[in-house]
Amino acid sequence: MGSPTDTGGAGTAAASASALEVRGLSVGYGPVRALSGVSLDVPAGAVVAVLGGNGAGKSTLLRAISRTLGYHRGAVTTGSIGYGGRDLGGTSAARVVAAGIVQVPEGRQVFSRMTVADNLRAGALGASGGRQATREALARVHELFPVLADRARQHAGLLSGGEQQMLAMGRALMSAPRLLLLDEPSLGLAPLMAARIAETIQHINSTGTSVLLVEQNAALALRLATTAYVLDVGEVALHGPAAELAASDEVRRRYLGVVDEAAAEDAGRAQTVAPTLSRWTA
Ligand code: ATP
Repeated sequence: MGSPTDTGGAGTAAASASALEVRGLSVGYGPVRALSGVSLDVPAGAVVAVLGGNGAGKSTLLRAISRTLGYHRGAVTTGSIGYGGRDLGGTSAARVVAAGIVQVPEGRQVFSRMTVADNLRAGALGASGGRQATREALARVHELFPVLADRARQHAGLLSGGEQQMLAMGRALMSAPRLLLLDEPSLGLAPLMAARIAETIQHINSTGTSVLLVEQNAALALRLATTAYVLDVGEVALHGPAAELAASDEVRRRYLGVVDEAAAEDAGRAQTVAPTLSRWTA
């Protein structure tokens, strides 16, 4: 598997996208160390997945990139994050959005008392384009998620979980991002809806937006991504081409729920032998 600096050649190259480079990133929440020396690349136009169990540091990584750690009382202690050759250190969250990086946080955070249309309008607030750009973005979002046009006047809180996820993604797309940071988009969704969201991510990527996808649903993430990283207690434990990771025993066992066949056979043999032993000792 390659180093974090040779993950190029992935996905649909987009002229407008830039590469994201995370180098030696450490993050703490007061005394709690959440990330230690994490390095990661998102080449222009790629879909890159970050896998890991609860508390591995996945959301923290996205917060560091979107410069929203401060809202969670967290801070970068060492390392750097570069986008398109520019160091994002010291940049405000609003300027990160203006630079084209938009995060869709975990948990479908929509403004539930606002209408669907107003939620989408709110997504355009940080955008650098004018009214025409907003109209075009809205047309694209409605094309991608027709239900958001049908339900435009309803309160967002009345939408189903899957529709709220579409709204959260649609709101992020209103500022025409060049890099989308997605935090567990399939969380809590029925398999069909999760598959629908996966297709949409593929479509968004095919139009030139890079995607950094954090997921506990490793099967879905590894299908979408060209490169993947596994975080374990704040450190990169594995990384490489998604297909290679999907084939690795450790990832299959820990994240894909695939039982190690040899171990399963051993366990099966032990079970058939055990009654014999107990008969002998009885
Ligand atoms: P999950 O999949 O459960 O959302 P995660 O991989 O996204 O987990 P993080 O939420 O980034 O993990 O958490 C990484 C570590 O930082 C954990 O030990 C967590 O308890 C801690 N942590 C996260 N947010 C805060 C916070 N606001 N204050 C203190 N500690 C935090």
